[in-house]
Amino acid sequence: MPKKKSNVNKKDNKNENSEKKKKTQKQAKLSDNEFKEFTNNISNEIVNKFGLDLIKLKPDDIKDLVEEIINSIVESRVTKPSEESLLKKFVNLRDQFMKAIAGRLLEKDEVNSRERLEFIIAYAPEIAGKASPKLYRIAKQFNANDLIDTLRQLWNQYGFPSPIKCPVCGFNSVMPDMNCIVCGSLLDEKDIKNEINLKEQLSMLKRVYNDKLIREILDSGYIVFDGEIKPPSLKEKDKISVSLHLNKDEKEILLKLLDNT
Ligand SMILES: [Zn+2]
Repeated sequence: MPKKKSNVNKKDNKNENSEKKKKTQKQAKLSDNEFKEFTNNISNEIVNKFGLDLIKLKPDDIKDLVEEIINSIVESRVTKPSEESLLKKFVNLRDQFMKAIAGRLLEKDEVNSRERLEFIIAYAPEIAGKASPKLYRIAKQFNANDLIDTLRQLWNQYGFPSPIKCPVCGFNSVMPDMNCIVCGSLLDEKDIKNEINLKEQLSMLKRVYNDKLIREILDSGYIVFDGEIKPPSLKEKDKISVSLHLNKDEKEILLKLLDNT
């Protein structure tokens, strides 16, 4: 791959230029034994210190992440770090470390307890919000309604919220094709009409639109809903919306509004 080769060359040149510096850094690096020992000790230490034993993680489960971090600390230092100073760094990086653990549990499909689910929500709310479709299913298994409530908020904040609430899972997650992207339900117009109280909203439409726009809805036979009821001509392209066709009863409501003028 030519691209890779050119990167290597570039690196070589750079190294040549800073050969002296590199030598100093190399001397500061830990021996293989020290590295292993530090990794083991620190992994043992922080499983308890950070309470990771409460979500049933063992030192072995986090060793590769600890290794990665020690590596980057060693690389960025001129002097050789002691185990104590490394541990201090980990304590300072606690939140970031926990977030990385949370991300990994999710990635590896290891969210297998309520405690782990709580852990992800607490330390990686942004990741949890985005992963709501997956975490909702898991929370359901544990009947964790309180956590589902929190996920709904995180979904609105960090996920891909739609203005249309799903009547099944309660997330703002219904797409224009009437599929719910959180619980997977395929809804129909009737479900959504009930969810948004369409009839009641139609009866108050005169407060929002003039007769011409209400007439437009009647003539076209449907409304666009993007959080608000709109006549087709007011549909906004960049907003998620669904089209809802009006039945006879619903049209009656609008006709009455026009009659009362
Ligand atoms: Zn749903």
